[in-house]
Amino acid sequence: MQKLQEAGIYLLRLFFFGKKGLDNLLSLIFYRLRVNSKAVLTLTIKLLVMAQESPYVFQSGPYKDLSVEQVFLLDPIHLAWLYQNFFKNKRLIKSPNQLQLAIESLLEKIHGIDTTKDCPYCRQAKVVNFLLPDFGPVTNGLLCCDNPVCREELKSVRAGELHTISDFLLLVSYMPKPQAQKIVGIFKATHKKYKEAFA
Ligand SMILES: [Zn+2]
Repeated sequence: MQKLQEAGIYLLRLFFFGKKGLDNLLSLIFYRLRVNSKAVLTLTIKLLVMAQESPYVFQSGPYKDLSVEQVFLLDPIHLAWLYQNFFKNKRLIKSPNQLQLAIESLLEKIHGIDTTKDCPYCRQAKVVNFLLPDFGPVTNGLLCCDNPVCREELKSVRAGELHTISDFLLLVSYMPKPQAQKIVGIFKATHKKYKEAFA
């Protein structure tokens, strides 16, 4: 069984990191077929299916065995922190390219999630921005759509900077946790069906 696991891990590494890519993978499959192990073949097929769905699964740390999307649902701030640290300290992560790609594809997915809250100013469009105040706490009442008139109205309420709500993961890693949690809360409150995007 240990040999099977080793073969599986080797296959995954080969698939993601192997210089010759798929050719190597296929030759390994045919080699394993020659040694005639049905279990290895089954494992190979399972791994291929997994690789096609291409989830990045954490191999260590507090969220070992969970995918990037699962960690996003459980603890988006952790993911944001990890992404920031990927750029700051590459030694933290064994396979940075793969994780970076997985997080970037997640960020893209987040941008595609429908907003469920109307702009409080024009009441015609959905909210896009939130105001990060220069002083004091963030609140989920400081929102507007992308219309310049609505943006100006929101800016006149309090001194601060407007940010795109769906960019929240890029912002929260720099913030104290209570503020980061509030911003995550803004995303959740304005994208109520976000969990469905990861179902
Ligand atoms: Zn508006």
